[in-house]
Amino acid sequence: MRVVLLGPPGSGKGTCAKIIGGLYGVPVITTGDMLRAAVARATPLGRTAKGYMDRGELVPDDLVNSLVAERLAEPDAANGFILDGYPRSPKQAEALEKHLQKTGKRLDHVLHVELEDEAIIDRLSKRRSCPRCGAIYHLENKPPRTNGMCDTCATALVQRDDDRPEVIRRRLEVYREKTRPLLSFYERRGEIKTIRGDLPLDELPAALRRVLNGRG
Ligand code: AMP
Repeated sequence: MRVVLLGPPGSGKGTCAKIIGGLYGVPVITTGDMLRAAVARATPLGRTAKGYMDRGELVPDDLVNSLVAERLAEPDAANGFILDGYPRSPKQAEALEKHLQKTGKRLDHVLHVELEDEAIIDRLSKRRSCPRCGAIYHLENKPPRTNGMCDTCATALVQRDDDRPEVIRRRLEVYREKTRPLLSFYERRGEIKTIRGDLPLDELPAALRRVLNGRG
């Protein structure tokens, strides 16, 4: 199963990706997480990526394309993958096409997770995450039991640097300029399916199954 998830930041792509990965037993490849890990380890890639990420801009295509090419070459991705946050520009979509052609594979689905800007801004500005275990909270809809602390590992929760309002606005502009055009690219090929990003969590697995099986 090879799936690409498209949609604005904060639309719920990551949640959908994890569910689909679990349903089909294939790895979820999340470029944002890979880049944040590189920043945390201060690798050469991380040091270059940090400035772009802090401003809400895309990290240059060549860097991200190499990162993803290496990851797709790992054995666990041979039988499928869920790409979350990639491709994000026409150059990245071309690189993915080349990879697929070279390996004689094709995408099974391109899933568009849609959500309006207002809901995205609310979701991202109130998002808090645990730097240790990665658990995600929302100050109103999914607050931690103890204010500011992770329910699972009692670590102090943090706000992502790029979840501040001015950076969120820039990330949404960049999405419209660079990533949204990919929807028409995949639409022309009849590969797009759409799901709303604000479905209740307990309804999401069944809804994803329906959409991916063509009964959405
Ligand atoms: P995300 O967690 O997907 O919202 O990504 C956070 C940030 O990582 C983005 O604002 C970009 O700076 C960078 N990033 C993630 N994925 C990509 C990508 N495919 N191409 C370029 N930059 C990316």
